[in-house]
Amino acid sequence: MTVRAARGDKLTAKSWQTEAALRMLHNNLDPEVAERPEDLVVYGGTGKAARDWASFAAITQCLTTLDDDETLLVQSGKPVGVFRTHEWAPRVLLANSNLVGDWASWPEFRRLERLGLTMYGQMTAGSWIYIGTQGILQGTYETFAAVAEKRFGGSLKGTLTVTAGLGGMGGAQPLAITMNGGVALVVECDAQRARRRLETRYLDELASDVDDAVRRVSQAKKDGTALSVGVIGNAAEVLPELLRRGVEVDIVTDQTSAHDPLAYLPAGVSVEDWHDYASRKPDEFTERARESMAEHVGAMLGFLDLGAEVFDYGNSLRGEAKLGGCARAFDYPGFVPAYIRPLFCAGKGPFRWAALSGDPADIAATDRAILELFPDNAALSRWIRLAGERVAFQGLPARICWLGYGERHLAGLRFNEMVAAGELSAPVVIGRDHLDAGSVASPYRETEAMADGSDAIADWPLLNALVNTASGATWVSIHHGGGVGMGRSIHAGQVCVADGSALAARKIERVLTNDPGMGVIRHVDAGYEQAVRVAEEYGVQIPMRDH
Ligand code: NAD
Repeated sequence: MTVRAARGDKLTAKSWQTEAALRMLHNNLDPEVAERPEDLVVYGGTGKAARDWASFAAITQCLTTLDDDETLLVQSGKPVGVFRTHEWAPRVLLANSNLVGDWASWPEFRRLERLGLTMYGQMTAGSWIYIGTQGILQGTYETFAAVAEKRFGGSLKGTLTVTAGLGGMGGAQPLAITMNGGVALVVECDAQRARRRLETRYLDELASDVDDAVRRVSQAKKDGTALSVGVIGNAAEVLPELLRRGVEVDIVTDQTSAHDPLAYLPAGVSVEDWHDYASRKPDEFTERARESMAEHVGAMLGFLDLGAEVFDYGNSLRGEAKLGGCARAFDYPGFVPAYIRPLFCAGKGPFRWAALSGDPADIAATDRAILELFPDNAALSRWIRLAGERVAFQGLPARICWLGYGERHLAGLRFNEMVAAGELSAPVVIGRDHLDAGSVASPYRETEAMADGSDAIADWPLLNALVNTASGATWVSIHHGGGVGMGRSIHAGQVCVADGSALAARKIERVLTNDPGMGVIRHVDAGYEQAVRVAEEYGVQIPMRDH
């Protein structure tokens, strides 16, 4: 069955609020967007949009008939109830993959999944706001820009980055690196995945083997030209090989699906045998995957020792490698403490929107609106221009940029005005990744090394979901295990719909103020001075600080 979101300005649901949820659920499963739509898998290993096809059909049916004073409840991808609420309440509330602490492990999750009781929601898969690889592109672009700023004088020109994984998220790496002027060598074990990134122009070239790849990237590094080259192979074998050959590498990271040992291919196992082997012998496979991850991280540490900039890109590779016997796995930092936390202190994070019309002209118009709204933000302007030129849309046309507290609501309100004035041909949805300033507890990633040691405190994402629900978001979700895997994260998402109405404007103003506001108060609470300054500048009310 092929699923694709409806386009145009004709409703199939009762209002744009529910039509938006319907189109975004369907958009998540569009073959242009989803990694394995036939299995309802959107991205990130096994991140799904609905539990099974019967649940998908039932959710579709519910959203088509849902009234604007009703709320649909979705429990790990299955619709379980519709309640009478009110027009300010979310139209959909979702909870995905949540397990009680002592049970929060992959084996227990899989046991329950096999019983048909749960589903892995990743972050934006089960919360219906995945927009293809572009979603991660901005975050990856920001991260590599920060690496360039920290170590290489503001540009990656003349540098070589080695990484692995060309999946839904990892596929953004080569383009993010070339957008920053650098050279990328990306190892991917699945040729089909690599070819897909070539087709969408995220990857420039595919080398025939490691020799060929090294030749191409070394030349580009010498010439100072931006180039990305993919090579088919296993990272646990290719990285040690690059180290042995003495290839001069400046930056090393990784985006294989290491958060789930069954989604990381162990050395010596073929792509063809992968899924069968993993499902027949999960324990043996896990052990082999962890051993390979230890080899992989061992090579990354080798590059670290030679002076390269090495960071973990939020996939739990260090954690799994440690379980596989690599004692020094945590010698290099995660990308959030290394580069992103100062942005989080200002409530800055991923702000994304999609044109429900399906018309790319609507995104071009909103791009112009962003440039007009924030003319002094040079990095933002550069990104929006480059994205307009380089990013191929997948599914409904969409855009993402990073905006902070005091900015997001301005963009949302402007989009709503544009819908009301007929400057856009249909409403837009505005949402975000869960990887945001105040919406996630994830000690190996977003909340790694918090100043006050509060890394594992998960009250914040729960408060985030509650405040977004109270503020008028159209759908709100609470997930467990996204990004870094079971037992390692709790996170929340929200999506608003700019349908051009006065009510939507009031909701958007509140949600897009309070949602990034959670990032500010979370970092004030943890003792970050930069967040305190932002709170003071904008008058964010924080009781025990307001004297
Ligand atoms: P994905 O499953 O779509 O892609 C992973 C890719 O890694 C696949 O193409 C797979 O073939 C490849 N791979 C697996 N084992 C390999 C090996 N040994 N050698 C070479 N290639 C191998 O996953 P994704 O959506 O791209 O996400 C990748 C990881 O990044 C996940 O762990 C995800 O949780 C994490 N993630 C990070 C961020 C972030 O902000 N840094 C955000 C979201 C997700």
